[in-house]
Amino acid sequence: MPVTRSPITLEETDAAAGFHIQDDFERFPQKDDLFRRSWWDESIRSEKAQLFYATYREPLKSFRKADGFTQKDFALRNAAWHVSDIFTELKEGEDRREGFTDEFSLYRDVAAVRQEMGTPEEAAAEIKRVGAGFGADLLGITGYDERWMYSAKFSDMSRSEKPQAISDALPHVIVIAQAMDYDLIRTVPSALSGAATGLGYSHDALVVLSIAQYIRNLGYNAVASMNDSALAVPLAVKAGLGEYGRLGLLITQQFGPRVRLGKIFTDMPLAHDQPIRFGVEEFCAVCRRCTTGCPAKAIPDGPPSALRHNRSNLKGVVKWSVDGEKCFSYWVAQNSDCSICIRVCPYNKDYSKWWHRLGQRLAGTRLRGLMLALDIRLGYGERLKPQAWWKGDKESIWRRVQGLFRRD
Ligand code: SF4
Ligand code: SF4
Repeated sequence: MPVTRSPITLEETDAAAGFHIQDDFERFPQKDDLFRRSWWDESIRSEKAQLFYATYREPLKSFRKADGFTQKDFALRNAAWHVSDIFTELKEGEDRREGFTDEFSLYRDVAAVRQEMGTPEEAAAEIKRVGAGFGADLLGITGYDERWMYSAKFSDMSRSEKPQAISDALPHVIVIAQAMDYDLIRTVPSALSGAATGLGYSHDALVVLSIAQYIRNLGYNAVASMNDSALAVPLAVKAGLGEYGRLGLLITQQFGPRVRLGKIFTDMPLAHDQPIRFGVEEFCAVCRRCTTGCPAKAIPDGPPSALRHNRSNLKGVVKWSVDGEKCFSYWVAQNSDCSICIRVCPYNKDYSKWWHRLGQRLAGTRLRGLMLALDIRLGYGERLKPQAWWKGDKESIWRRVQGLFRRD
């Protein structure tokens, strides 16, 4: 877990987080999120896109014979999404899709009596213990930052904008990361790998709701949120959960980019964590595995820039920006989400193994070029056949080393 210290100024936090914000920065409207556009923008809202969404709820008329896209693969993926889906659909009749366009709203009342929590540092330490107990794989804390809150919300159901519901009356943000299954992600592209994504969201919903209700039971306000309400990656970077990578996602020390994010906005006084750096920016500067691995050519090749591919990119931030339109087209063509960029990323490792922890440390030094070459030579990032996953295949370092000597 990140080290807890007192908050510093916004400028200092930006510098520590590696944020480069320009004068022409504008807050992002939820309407321009690529998934929201697939509900209102005719250039994204194709028949194929509707079929893509339908495959998460209904059996396909005919399943493909291709490995990873059989009825069994879709069955597992959709079962993994099931808990998250229930929350999302619960209030659709009230024009809310909670967890995706709207913050969660089903709680018991905030307790009338407030529990004394000690200093903000003590309260933060307790929230981290409780969060881990509820199953949060990573938990960091940062301050409310209006720049990363959607300027306006968007309703998929009525296809209209609505006001942002969360304000600085909840000045602290608890950010959690849930690890996605390593071996399932190895099978991408496949419907089977989508089970890792679905499980990530289903676990996320359970953890953010439980933490929020715990805080409410202590007499403080708390609102749980997943993809709705705010941009999660900058909040996670500020909360010390990891660094921003070329593939447009958070890269953590513990799971690489293989995480789903959730957050809880609260008025419980909590000490904030600080951003961490462990060499991702420098490693991404020499590595292009996500760029070359992306079948949609959606990930940039050059240095960070303020370039916007389309309206789904943030304005006024110098960073690596992914072309979401190209990315989503590939998802639609596959009838399943894609995580190839996560699979091939050298930071995507099982860090319960000491040799991967050592490898990450070396990747943060001048040996990064050598570590990248070794990663490729050992065959990391290659696809695991979905059939092999169904048969219980597990990663083996010895098989990789043997493969190294068998190759030309
Ligand atoms: S998810 Fe797939 S299509 Fe999208 S950027 Fe990553 S590799 Fe490319
Ligand atoms: S694949 Fe390489 S360039 Fe892409 S995010 Fe991972 S480390 Fe960075």
